Amino acid sequence: MNQRHDGEIDLALRARAKQVIPGGMYGHQNAAPLPEGYPQFFARATGCHVWDVDGREYVDLMCSWGPVLLGHHHAGVDAAYQKQAALGVSMNGPAPALVELAETLVDRIAHADWALFQKNGTDATTTCVTIARAGTGRRKILVAQGSYHGAVPWCSPSLVGVTTEDRAHVIQYQYNDIASLNAAVQEAGTDLAAILVTAFRHDIGRDQEMPTIEFAKALRAAATAADAALILDDVRAGFRLHAAGSWEALGVRPDLSAFSKGIANGYPLAAVTGNERFREGAGRIYVTGSFWCEAPPMAAAIATLQETKASNTIAHLVAMGQRLRDGLAKLSDQAGIGVRQTGPVQMPMVLFDDDADNAKGRRFCAATLRAGAYFHPRHNMFLSAAHQPEDIDKALSAAAAGFEALAG
Ligand code: PMP
Repeated sequence: MNQRHDGEIDLALRARAKQVIPGGMYGHQNAAPLPEGYPQFFARATGCHVWDVDGREYVDLMCSWGPVLLGHHHAGVDAAYQKQAALGVSMNGPAPALVELAETLVDRIAHADWALFQKNGTDATTTCVTIARAGTGRRKILVAQGSYHGAVPWCSPSLVGVTTEDRAHVIQYQYNDIASLNAAVQEAGTDLAAILVTAFRHDIGRDQEMPTIEFAKALRAAATAADAALILDDVRAGFRLHAAGSWEALGVRPDLSAFSKGIANGYPLAAVTGNERFREGAGRIYVTGSFWCEAPPMAAAIATLQETKASNTIAHLVAMGQRLRDGLAKLSDQAGIGVRQTGPVQMPMVLFDDDADNAKGRRFCAATLRAGAYFHPRHNMFLSAAHQPEDIDKALSAAAAGFEALAG
């Protein structure tokens, strides 16, 4: 068993990082904005448990911010990864796994006739935009205000280091607002290349919102009328909502989809799937990367997709998510402290009433963390196939400590 320390190893690493990493840490995994006590550095992970560098164990409700779909160190996925790694990792061309994985996606994803692979979600969304422009010969891209599509200049939520030219052809609309969509379509005129949309509204720090059927259908109709691409950004929700693509339940099929996060259970991979209309454009653009053909993550993705089907992972995620949601609702009732739990249960978002500055959420999370569960105060969380009822119950006992801290 690891020896437990009170965060001093984490603090020492942060002090060293400050010297050699600008700002000490960067991006979404920067722990600086998190409540007091949150570790920056982790030592290991297994199933739905993570250990920080000071040996403290937590029930993991973030799953690496999404990629871990089946649990850390899933035996079948790791075996597939290692088998391919023993044969070859980065070679002068892809391994057969590239074709097998593309066939698996074309078989599974309802709208897909072909697939391309990258490393990160940003690669996939950017590739979709490039394909849409190639396939239509047009420039304008419609995006919902506040939706996250990645961390490069055309879509980064920060404007630091970004020029107005980088955003010259991006027009915003409001999620679930057909009038604002129509206005944006009008503004794009004859230059509309694509409408981009996330599987549901999962912007940081606000209640999650499922798309209405009318909204999803209006997006499809607008893209079809303009012969532009409807791009579904399924990077975050993909493989957690619906096995055939997140909008399959709505009966609305995109032309292009971007996947990443859950596709290879934590190994680095992203995918774009598309239909016949955009095959030609996808074949003409130049996109690649030194590691995009890395073989073991593709073998891991094939194993992940097989396992999700064999075990009906989504049904399990829903059951565990419902248990967590019901338990939190009960605790909040008992404490007389209002919480809002929104969006799909398997991607929990917990926000407190009358908490505009997130102070309650932060106090709740700090106490819950001390009691052994890693919640996030402002971002949606993620469940995995490794979560069992007893893990959810452990997270709920930790949450009880969180509610107590708020009541006290
Ligand atoms: N789109 C969505 C909806 C996302 O949630 C993310 C990542 N949070 C991205 C795109 C970008 O993915 P990545 O961080 O892997 O580049």
